This record gives sequence, structure tokens and C-alpha cells, in this order.
Amino acid sequence: MDLFEYQARDLFEKHGVPVLRGIVATTAEDARAAATQLGGGTVVVKAQVKTGGRGKAGGVKLAHNPDEAQRAAEAILGMDIKGHTVHRVMVAEGADIAEEYYFSVLLDRAERRYLAMCSMQGGVEIETLAVERPEALAKVPVDPTVGIDAQKAREIVDQAGFPAEMRDDVAAVIEKLWGVYANEDATLVEVNPLVKTGDGAIIALDGKVTLDDNAAFRHPEHEALVDKAAEDPLEAKAKAADLNYVKLDGEVGIIGNGAGLVMSTLDVVAYAGEEHGVKPANFLDIGGGASAEVMAAGLDVILGDPQVKSVFVNVFGGITACDAVAEGIVKALEMLGDQAAKPLVVRLDGNNVELGRKILSDANHPLVTMEETMDGAAAKAAQLAAK
Ligand code: GDP
Ligand code: MN
Repeated sequence: MDLFEYQARDLFEKHGVPVLRGIVATTAEDARAAATQLGGGTVVVKAQVKTGGRGKAGGVKLAHNPDEAQRAAEAILGMDIKGHTVHRVMVAEGADIAEEYYFSVLLDRAERRYLAMCSMQGGVEIETLAVERPEALAKVPVDPTVGIDAQKAREIVDQAGFPAEMRDDVAAVIEKLWGVYANEDATLVEVNPLVKTGDGAIIALDGKVTLDDNAAFRHPEHEALVDKAAEDPLEAKAKAADLNYVKLDGEVGIIGNGAGLVMSTLDVVAYAGEEHGVKPANFLDIGGGASAEVMAAGLDVILGDPQVKSVFVNVFGGITACDAVAEGIVKALEMLGDQAAKPLVVRLDGNNVELGRKILSDANHPLVTMEETMDGAAAKAAQLAAK
């Protein structure tokens, strides 16, 4: 999950990284009040969107008093920055910038470690710097078992070329930023610019943080950082039901048990769908213990996708036998009632398959068609979706 700048600012503050005060506002009037609250002097009004280059796009404006802050917010709210509409701004204390630097630490998957990058040439786009002046960007590998300790921080500032009298101060901030990275389970912490102010203080002026979703269970407090308004409603519903769901752009809904089976079902449906001009609509793995509730939750999510025209339920009975899955499907259709209004093609195989098929044929649900093979079921589901 990528965070907004103001959320990154809050995490920085929590871990002792020096930041300036900032207040979020969703209206120009609130921005004015925020500027007053910050002392009535110079503030910066900054668009809160999850993309870079806000400054260039006109999404960062200096305001010398609350009146100007209000006008700046009026101009920025509603602005489109690289396809992101600005719904909120952060009104931040103005900084007296003497110099702008760059620092980031990220996960280097290919090298199986972390990578810290640092430059005295901050404020500019780092991709541009890396291409045009690679020697100005220090790249320092970080051993995951050690992290950025005092010695590593020192190595980073040395390589970036900071003058001797500044090294301790910058290194101290870098160690704190590592604290954010490690303790919050981030995969990216980037500060651009990290600034030196007129009186020599080192401050993180803009922060970009990506949190590792795989570590979300360790951080219940991160749930509050989710931008609910931007979430896909179907994915949010699936997440709430603890389902492993990914929305795709297609017409054939897919439910299966086990990620491998669902992946191959996507392939088979994509292939069968070519002839009918339809594609898989989603990935949904209901896992091993497919109870009626889980099946109902899964069907509910898939049937709620207006793009879906048919559903392919592909289950291989292993630990959960086919009869239990069949019961689950029947009960799920009962639970959903009128909401279940799209044809279902069911392919069951494996443990207790005969009993499972009997349960479904006895139920004789008008929406359910049974197929014996995966290919046959894919072809049937694709054909029904194309109607
Ligand atoms: P980005 O363009 O999305 O990366 O947004 P930033 O927050 O990095 O701001 C862009 C630029 O605006 C910075 O590099 C600074 O030059 C400038 N800026 C941001 N905050 C302040 C501030 O408080 N005072 C001054 N003078 N300039 C600022
Ligand atoms: Mn920036």
C-alpha cells in the first residue's frame, strides 16, 4: 500500500524523523484555518495524491498568509495530477530551504537485500539524476540482517559526499528513517527533498512510503491508512470476507479452490473464451475448507460484478470433499436468493465426487449446469457468457 505524503509525515514523526507541522484540509476554508493554526505566517499548500511530480504540476504552492493559503487550496483542490484528482491538501509550515538532498531505502528483490540511495542533488526527479549524473547518486547495499546502523548510515553519507561537518546530522536522520522502514514493515521510504534549512537543521520535507501488505497482520493500526474511497468496492468486499480475489477485465467469473487450480482455470477460460470473445472476470481462490459461507461470500462478490455474465466454479475435492462443496454451493444459492441471477457452470472432481454431483443434480437449481471436465466446463461458461 502506498501512503499519502501526510501519512508518511505522521509515520516519520512517530519514529523521530524531523518533519514540519502539517494539517490536512479538504476545503479551501479549512486550509485557511489550518494556515492560521500554524501561526498565520508562510505555509506550503500541497496536493495529496499518490503520485510524484506534484511540484511541477502546480500542486505545491507557497502561501505567505492564510488568505493566500485559501486561494492556493482553491486552485489545487480538484486539480488533476497524472490522472489523480486532488481531494485533500496538506497545509505545512513553510521551510527556509538552503539545500535539497535525496534519500531512499527500498527492497532490492533481485539482490535479496535492501538498497539505500542518497544524493546531495535532491529536489529533482531521481530517475533523471540517475541517468544524467549517476556519480552524484550513491547506491549502498544494506544487509537485511543488520539494517542501517550508525556505521552504515555513516557509509551512506560519506558516499553521497556530504561535507564532514554535516555527516553526523544527516546520518542521524537516515538512521531514524531506517527505523520507519524496519518498524513499519515498509518496502520503500523515500525523502525528496531532505533539506538543510537556513539555520542548519536537517528536515524531511516530502515523504513517500510503501508498506508491505504481506506484513499487514503485524500492524492492525495500518488499516486506518487505507484510502477507502479509492478502493475497488468488489476487492474491498472480498478483503472483508478474507477472500483471495483479484478483479480482472472479463465476463466469466471464476471460483476455485487452491491458487494453482484457479490460475490454470484462468488459462483454460481465456483459451475457450477466444472463440466467443469473452475473458476471465477475476481470480478467486476460496482455499481448502470451502464452507457454504465462504462459497456464498465468493459468489456474492463475483455476482456483484456487473461485467460478469456467467460463473465457472471449479473445485477439486481434497481435504474438503466434493459433497461438502456441493452442499456449500446449494446453500450459497439459497442464501443469495434473487441475487444469484447468472448461470453457474460447476465442475467437481476428486474426493467424494459421485456424492457431490448427486447433491447438485438433486437440488436441480435452474441456474446450475454440471460439466465433467475442466475444458468442457470452460467452454460452456464461455458460451453462456457470450449469449
Ligand atoms: P513533489 O513535487 O511531489 O515531489 O513535491 P515536494 O513536496 O517535494 O515539493 C516540491 C518542491 O517544492 C520541493 O523540492 C521544494 O523545492 C519546494 N517546497 C516544498 N516545500 C517547501 C517549503 O516549505 N518552502 C519552500 N521554500 N519550498 C518548498
Ligand atoms: Mn518530492
